Amino acid sequence: MTVHKFDAVIIGAGGAGLWAALELSKHPDLKVAVLSKLYPVRSHTGTAQGGIGAALANLEEDHWEWHMFDTVKGGDYLVDQDAAEVLCREAIETVYELEHMGLPFSRTPEGKIDQRRFGGHTKNYGEAPVRRSCYAADRTGHMILQTLYQQCIKNNVNFFDEYHFLDLILVEGRTAGVVALEIKSGELNVFQAKTVLLATGGFGKIYKITSNAHSLTGDGVSIAFRRGIPLEDMEFFQFHPTGIYKLGILLTEAMRGEGGKLLNGEGERFMERYAPTLLDLAPRDLISRAMYLEIREGRGVGGNDYLHLDVRHLGKNVILAKLPDMLDFVRTYVGVDMTQEMVPVQPTAHYAMGGIPTDIEGRVVTDEKNTPLPGLYAAGECACVSVHGGNRLGTNSLVDILVFGRRSGRDMAKFVKDNELPELPKEPEGATRAEVSRLLNSRGPETVGKLREELQQTMQDYAGVFREEDGLASALSALGELKQRYRRVSLQDRGKKFNTDLLEAMELGYLLDIAEATVYSAQNRTESRGAHWREDFPKRDDANWLKHTLLYRKDGGLEVKYKPVTITKFQPQERKY
Ligand SMILES: Cc1cc2nc3c(=O)[nH]c(=O)nc-3n(C[C@H](O)[C@H](O)[C@H](O)COP(=O)(O)OP(=O)(O)OC[C@H]3O[C@@H](n4cnc5c(N)ncnc54)[C@H](O)[C@@H]3O)c2cc1C
Repeated sequence: MTVHKFDAVIIGAGGAGLWAALELSKHPDLKVAVLSKLYPVRSHTGTAQGGIGAALANLEEDHWEWHMFDTVKGGDYLVDQDAAEVLCREAIETVYELEHMGLPFSRTPEGKIDQRRFGGHTKNYGEAPVRRSCYAADRTGHMILQTLYQQCIKNNVNFFDEYHFLDLILVEGRTAGVVALEIKSGELNVFQAKTVLLATGGFGKIYKITSNAHSLTGDGVSIAFRRGIPLEDMEFFQFHPTGIYKLGILLTEAMRGEGGKLLNGEGERFMERYAPTLLDLAPRDLISRAMYLEIREGRGVGGNDYLHLDVRHLGKNVILAKLPDMLDFVRTYVGVDMTQEMVPVQPTAHYAMGGIPTDIEGRVVTDEKNTPLPGLYAAGECACVSVHGGNRLGTNSLVDILVFGRRSGRDMAKFVKDNELPELPKEPEGATRAEVSRLLNSRGPETVGKLREELQQTMQDYAGVFREEDGLASALSALGELKQRYRRVSLQDRGKKFNTDLLEAMELGYLLDIAEATVYSAQNRTESRGAHWREDFPKRDDANWLKHTLLYRKDGGLEVKYKPVTITKFQPQERKY
C-alpha cells in the first residue's frame, strides 16, 4: 500500500479546491496535493452559467453593503452576518483577481466587466433589481474553472486525478490525512498530511429532478459526518425555478435577468401576485413555491405540471450573445427553438445551503462554540459558513467557493508552518478496506440503481419544496428501510480496475446518510424559513427558531443541537419582495 506525505491535501478540484490550492502553491516550500474523483475541469463548477455577484458598480451605483443586505434577507435572516460581510467585501477583489488571471468576462462597450441582473439582488436595500452579476456569456463557471486550473498547473500543484476519497484519518482529535482509491488500479492509497481541505461540492443527487451532475453525492459531507463532525442546517435545500421539464437540467436565472418571464397556463405573469416589486427576479425559494402553487391550483400549462419560460421578446441577437448555451440546451433536450417558442420548466433541486460547519477562515468547527478541529478545513458547497442561511441568492455560490476557498488556502499555509506531520494510526485504511471488500463480496438481491431511484423518489415526494410532518415521518421510515436493504446490495463488477460499480455503491451510502440528515433536520424544524417550507407550520418563528441546526451522529442515532446566528448589521424583518 502506498503512503504519500504532504503538508496539505485538498479533496476536490472545483472552484473552492482549486483556489485553495493556488494560495498554497504560492509557498514553494509546501507540498500540496489535490485529489479529485473527476478530471479537474469536469467538476460541477464548470457548469455554472449565469454569473458571479460582486458590487463592482460598473453600470450603476452599487455597494457591498447592499449586496450584504440582499444576501442576509435572501437567506431569511439565518445568515451569519460576519461571514456575509466577508463574502460581499471580498467578492470585489476576487472578481478583479480572476480578471487579472485572464478570465474572459463579457464586457461593456467601454471594456469594463459587464454585469446583469439576478434574483434577489437589489439597489438601495430592496428598491429595484441591480446589475451585479459578472459573467462570461452563460459559461461563467467553465471560464472560472479553466482559469484556476491553468494557474495551478503553472504553479506546479500536484494533481491526483481520478483518486476517489473514501475516508478521513483523525488521530486524537486532529487531522492526520485521508484514504483514497486510485480508480485506474483499484488500489488504496494513504495520504498523510498536516491539513486537509474538504471541497467535494454538493449533493443534489438525493433528489430525482435535479440540476446536479451524477457525481454530486456529498462524499465529503457524509464522510465528515461519519467521523463525528456535525452537519449544519441540512433542512435547507434550494430548488431552482427553471429546470427543463422532467429532466431537471438547469436553465440559468440569467434568462430572467436578461428579461425573460415566467407564465402560467393562462398566459399570466403570475409573479405579479407573489412578488410585485421584483417579479421574476424574486429569490428562488419564493418563485419555486409560487410555481408549485400555480400548478396545484390547476394553472399549469394544459393542466400539466409545468409552466412556461418566455424569452422570445429578447430577440435572437441578445440570446446568441448572452445565452448561447441555453439556446443550444433547449434545442437539444426539448426540441424547441426558444427564439420562437416558450420553454416548459419546473423547479429543480439545485443547491445545498447546509453542510460541514466552518468559521470564516474555513476551519471546520465541531460545536455551538465554534471550536475548530485542528487541521481540518472545508470550503465550497460542501461547507456551511453560513453565508446563505435559509436560501442562497443566485451568483452567490461562485463568490462563496472562491472567497472561502482562498481564505482556507491562506489559513492552511499558516497552519502547516506551525505544526508537525502527525503520526498515522496502525492500518489507517483498515475500515475502508473492510467496506470495499464487503461490497465486492456481497451476494445480496438488491441493486444500487434500484435503491438510488427509490431514495430519489422518496426525497422528491416528501422533502422537496413543501414539507409536512406525516410526509417527513414516512420519508424517514422509508430511508431506514433503504439503509437496511443497502446492506444487501451486490455488484455486477467485482474487478479492481475502473470499478465504477463499486464507487457508485459507496456514493449511494453517502446519499442515504445525507438524505436521512436532511429529513431528520426538516422534521425537527417546526417553522417555515427560506427554502424550508412546512405546510403545517407556515410562519417564520424567530422567537424559537432563529438558530442553526447542528446534527450529530451518536451511537447509531441522530442528535440535534443548536448554534446561535451571528447578527451584526441587519435585524430580522419581514421578508417582502
Ligand atoms: C448547472 C449549475 C449551474 C450553476 N450556476 C451557478 C451560477 O451561475 N452562479 C453561482 O454562483 N452558482 C451556480 N451554481 C452553483 C455552483 O456552481 C456550485 O455550488 C459550485 O460550483 C460548487 O463548487 P465546489 O468547488 O464546492 O464543488 P464542485 O465544483 O462541485 O467540485 C467538487 C469536486 O470534488 C471532487 N470530489 C467529490 N467527491 C469526491 C471524492 N469522493 N473523492 C475525490 N474527489 C471528490 C470532484 O471531483 C470535484 O472536483 C450552479 C450549479 C449548477 C449545478
